[in-house]
Formats: sequence, structure tokens, C-alpha cells
Amino acid sequence: MKILSNVMEQVLKRNPNEPEFHQAVKEVLESLEPVAERHPEWVKAGIFERIVEPERQIIFRVPWVDDSGKVQVNRGFRVQFNSAIGPYKGGLRFHPSVYLGIIKFLGFEQIFKNSLTGLPIGGGKGGSDFDPKGKSDGEVMRFCQSFMFELARHIGENTDVPAGDIGVGGREIGYMYGMYKKIRNDFTGVLTGKGLTWGGSLVRTEATGYGLCYFMEAALAAKGKSFNGATVVISGSGNVAIYATQKVHQLGGKVVALSDSNGYIYDAEGIKLDTVKQIKEVERKRISEYVKYHPNAIYTEGCSGIWTVKCDIALPSATQNEIDEESAKALVANGCYAVGEGANMPSTPEAVEVFLKNKVIYGPAKAANAGGVATSALEMSQNSMRYSWTFEEVDAKLKDIMVNIYKNASAAAKEYGDPDNLVLGANIAGFLKVANAMYAQGIAY
Ligand code: NDP
Repeated sequence: MKILSNVMEQVLKRNPNEPEFHQAVKEVLESLEPVAERHPEWVKAGIFERIVEPERQIIFRVPWVDDSGKVQVNRGFRVQFNSAIGPYKGGLRFHPSVYLGIIKFLGFEQIFKNSLTGLPIGGGKGGSDFDPKGKSDGEVMRFCQSFMFELARHIGENTDVPAGDIGVGGREIGYMYGMYKKIRNDFTGVLTGKGLTWGGSLVRTEATGYGLCYFMEAALAAKGKSFNGATVVISGSGNVAIYATQKVHQLGGKVVALSDSNGYIYDAEGIKLDTVKQIKEVERKRISEYVKYHPNAIYTEGCSGIWTVKCDIALPSATQNEIDEESAKALVANGCYAVGEGANMPSTPEAVEVFLKNKVIYGPAKAANAGGVATSALEMSQNSMRYSWTFEEVDAKLKDIMVNIYKNASAAAKEYGDPDNLVLGANIAGFLKVANAMYAQGIAY
């Protein structure tokens, strides 16, 4: 019998109806089986049972008044998963699909991702089933204020430092930070992703997309390939997708497709990023508008078709489980030789199988998209010092961190006998540091 199968059974029993959380835990436990064999003392100390159980889960009511004067009620979450190596750190997601299972899957992944950055940050995640789409600025502000009114009592610069995720960008962080400051009368680095004039860090906006490209650059180079001259498909058109596109273009690649939850655009001449930024960041409209500016581009309804677009490299940067087995096979059949995950868990387990079997250079999310949280940790450092580094300084640190994540994941994959398997490598490398800390800190915790 496998050492960790009882841990998985307990997770299924204790957390019913949370398939995304089950999926994330199963993948990690499968990777950790050889670690459990080498570390009987960790098995005895219950490290594996403890790491799959959040330290604390907070669920709260978020009432707010819409523009018509009607009272609306949403549900807020913060899951403080693991603080063995630092304060809980992880984003807030505002999307109608949010429920406890999504926040737990993201919080669990965050533990290993944050550990991989080499920086002292624990794992957490939060959010709400609030849908910012179609809401006025005033409605978004009132929601954010109400959300923070409760969240403020659970977070702090040395306790838990939230950031953005889907549906939470600079605007939302601003409204939440303003409310936190009013409640606490404390100007502190309690949120990251802040504006540059009030404690934000240069490069934070670009960090996840840039970091994804730095990670993939290292992974590609190890196989004698690069972004230069490559055709790239990126899903999503939010924060991660936009800045991944920018970096791919800087590195000499050509991004030909982007999407949102309604459909995707294909521009054979290469996506014009200024147009996308205008549509998504300024006007907050749908990606379909792109073809009005560039009539040679093609818009197709439905987002999964984007994976049938021929490309060398795919960077899924929208949401979980957006690439299934069929889409993965379509990518491989079209000659795609590398996949780097900007989004969290965008590939189903069956899709991952397809990539690994076909020797696709595959950068799993918790390694490849760690640049956002790494730069958030750099924002925390600058806040503590009351100092700001230049763009070039932060960018250089980000690049260093991403290359090191690649090296560490790759080294762990080699050490555990499957050198090209970065899923295994990232899970193990991320886990070891946290397990060591938990073991040293005793069972009270
Ligand atoms: P944004 O809200 O800025 O953008 C999300 C994009 O993905 C939008 O284009 C959105 O389309 C699309 N999308 C969201 N949900 C779905 C869905 N169910 N089906 C299809 N498309 C969807 O979010 P981010 O760019 O910040 O986040 C994207 C991914 O990257 C997420 O998985 C997030 O967890 C991950 N990530 C983000 C980090 C960050 O620093 N921001 C850090 C690490 C990971 P639409 O507008 O139609 O909803």
C-alpha cells in the first residue's frame, strides 16, 4: 500500500464536494510518495496529514448596497493554510464561481509556490463569489469596503498579507487598502499590489506574466530552444496574459491569440497589445472588440477553441482546468513543444499526462507563475524598509528568483529519478522547506 493513500482518503472524506481541492492535493501527494519513503520521521510526525488541513478557514457575510438601492449579500472567504515559513500570503479572487473548494485548492497550491520563491512567506488565499463584471465603480467600491470591514480583523503585515487574483486588480486593492487604513489607523504593508504612490512596488503589475516568461526561458534554454521566433498562444486577457504577451514580444516571440470567457481572437500578424490594454484595462470591455480595431483579426465564440490554434508555445493564463485531454492532444498534434502555466491549475490531470508523455516542456503553475507572489514579497520588504527599488532592480531580482525556481525544481526532479518532470520537481522542492519548518516547530502546530 502506498504510504500516503490514507491521507488522500481522509481528505476526500473530510472535504466532500470540493473537486478542485481534491485534484490539487492528489497531484501533490502522488509526487510526495518517494519523499515519505525517505522521511519516516515526517510520516510519524503527521506532517502529511497536517499539511492538507488549513490552519484556519474564515467564511463571512458581505452585505452591500447596489446602485438601485437594493441590498446585496455575497460570501467572503479567507483560508489561512500554512504559516510554517512566514505570514500567510496569497491573492483574493472575486468571481461568481468562487466557493470554499476553489479557495482551498488555491491556498494549498500557494504553500508550495511561496516556498519555491525562496522568500519567507506562508500560504493563504481568499475571495468572494462577487462578480465585478458589469458593476459600476461605486458598486465595486462599496463591495470592497464591506469585504475589508470584516477581513481587516483577520489580517496584518506580520499575520496575513492578501493581494490580487482574478477580478482583483489595482482598483480593488485601492478600495480595500483605504478601508483597512480607516479601520486600523495604520499605514502598513498589509496588502500587496498597491499603487506606486502609496507603497506599491515597481514590476508588481507585470510580475506574473514576466516571471512566467523568465521561468519558461530557462526551461526552453535547457532544451536548446527559446522564445525568439516562436509562435505563442496565450489564454485570458487579464493581468497575467497581458504582461506575458508583452514579455514574449520583448523576447522575440509572436503572440497570435488571446481570449476571455466569451471567446478568443486570432491575429496572424501578432497581437497589438496597446489595443488589448485599451479594451481590457481602460474600457473594461470584451476581447471581441479587438476585431473592430484590427479587421484582419478573427474572433471566435467559445474559449476552448484557442487550443486548436497552431503554436510552438502555449501559456494558459485564464483559469483552472481550461485545458482538458482533448485540448492537450490538439496542442501536441499541432506541434506545440512547450506549455507554461500562468493560471493556477489550468491543465486537468489527463492533460498533464498528455504533456508529460509527449515530452512537452511543461512548466507547472506553482513554479511557473510564482513571479507574482515573489514580487509581492519584494513589495513587503520595501514596505518594511520604507524604501523603493528601481524597476531594473526589482526586475533583476524577479528574474533571478524565477531562474532559481527552475533550477531547484529541475534538480529535485533529477534527484528523485524523473529529470524532465517539473511537476514532481516543483512539488518536492516546495514541500521540503515547509516540512522541515513544520517538523522543527513541533506538533502544536
Ligand atoms: P484577471 O481577472 O486579470 O484576468 C482573468 C482572465 O481570465 C480574463 O481574461 C478572464 O476573462 C479570463 N477568465 C477568468 N475566468 C474564466 C473562466 N472561468 N473561463 C474562461 N476565462 C476566464 O486575472 P489574472 O490575470 O490576475 O489571473 C489569471 C490566472 O492567473 C488565474 O488562474 C490566477 O489565479 C492566476 N495567477 C494570477 C496572479 C496574479 O499576480 N494576478 C499570480 C499567480 C497566478 P473574463 O474577463 O471574461 O472573465
